[in-house]
Amino acid sequence: MSKNQLAKSLDQPPCFVFNIISLMENRCEFEGADKMKISKRAQAVPDSVTLAVSSLARQLKAQGVDVVGFGAGEPDFDTPDYIKDAAIEALKAGKTKYTAAAGIAELRKAISEKLKKENNLQYSPEQVIVNLGGKHSVYLAMQAVLDAGDEVILGTPYWLTYPEAVKLAGAVPKIIQTDRANSYKIAPEQLENAITEKTAMLVLNSPNNPGGFTYTPEELQALAKVLEGTDVTVLSDEIYEKLIYGDTKFVSFASLSEDAYNRTLTLNGFSKTFAMTGWRLGYTAGPLEVIKAMGRLQSHMTSNPVTFGQYAVVAAYGQAGDAAIEKMRAEFEKRAKYMAERLNAIEGVLCPEPTGAFYCFPDVSSHYGRTINGAKISGSVDFAQALLEQANVALVPGLPFGCDSNVRLSFACSLEQISKGLDRLEKWLSQ
Ligand code: PMP
Repeated sequence: MSKNQLAKSLDQPPCFVFNIISLMENRCEFEGADKMKISKRAQAVPDSVTLAVSSLARQLKAQGVDVVGFGAGEPDFDTPDYIKDAAIEALKAGKTKYTAAAGIAELRKAISEKLKKENNLQYSPEQVIVNLGGKHSVYLAMQAVLDAGDEVILGTPYWLTYPEAVKLAGAVPKIIQTDRANSYKIAPEQLENAITEKTAMLVLNSPNNPGGFTYTPEELQALAKVLEGTDVTVLSDEIYEKLIYGDTKFVSFASLSEDAYNRTLTLNGFSKTFAMTGWRLGYTAGPLEVIKAMGRLQSHMTSNPVTFGQYAVVAAYGQAGDAAIEKMRAEFEKRAKYMAERLNAIEGVLCPEPTGAFYCFPDVSSHYGRTINGAKISGSVDFAQALLEQANVALVPGLPFGCDSNVRLSFACSLEQISKGLDRLEKWLSQ
């Protein structure tokens, strides 16, 4: 299908399709920019490619095209009923007004207790702030810690929001190129070489989006050792903490040592663990003064996270929570194994088996340079675009994650869909 045909089938003007493609290429096009001034800061921010791919796949589906969507960054499960019921009760009880900007005391206490029990971390409730989703936590943490010109170390592949949040804080992303041989993890010597006197922060994300890998406790210890004696703050994004597979062990970075504890902001949320992406509830725990600074920023930016949502998740943890999470985790585990096996059986596709999160991140670069059905595949964007147009499979190019050799496939969809999509991918590549 050509771009024009694709646009027609979507009942969209061609510029819509071109916009999606330019999003994938990390370019921005500003319609109407001549009509009203747009700040340089806003102009520098591209749309989220992951959201754009999901939206394009959804639109194709709505047009009756049988698309298999591997773009989703959210569980395909629904929020557990006991949490929904608690939200309904909270609404009925009139929990509909503003709360303290940093969140209700009951929830900050529940999170503090969870971190103690499950993560071996001693944070008082005052050291916890509830934010409007983990994405908001990332943004606020960077706004609270970073100054113009500070450097922030990110390893590839990185979640694509990090570099944008770094730049919005006036800081500079310092990228470490990792490789498949080290399962895309940052090696201690790479970290050592990347640290300069300007380094203010290291972002760690384990289990990782999009890489699907999880750092072992020993690997994290080795990174923690490198940081000793420096002023580097660690932002430890642990949002996929509960989604781990096989004999993978999860450990919170801040729990490794006193030194690690003192330099770390621990970030987590309800979106992935409890299938609550639409509720917009995340949190950050860390040194009191940083949490207070985040609270001041939040108070002027958004005020509190949604009130009845906060009341609903006070009781999210505990037995009911454990059972709900385990049901989803076990299903994801089956899919992880199946998807990785199928991908590795395709010629020229190399995929480490995921140990966490819900993504496979195969290297498909041996197909670059080929022309498939007239489409020249020179990188991950061409790959994703041609696959969507020719075989109706939506996946996310690796380029915006800093890894053009790879593509990301989410397994937050049924085994049946995974099987169907991989049949198509296999057939498409075998031409
Ligand atoms: N961190 C990572 C690594 C993520 O993948 C996401 C969601 N895609 C988030 C944070 C933020 O999630 P939310 O804002 O829905 O809590």
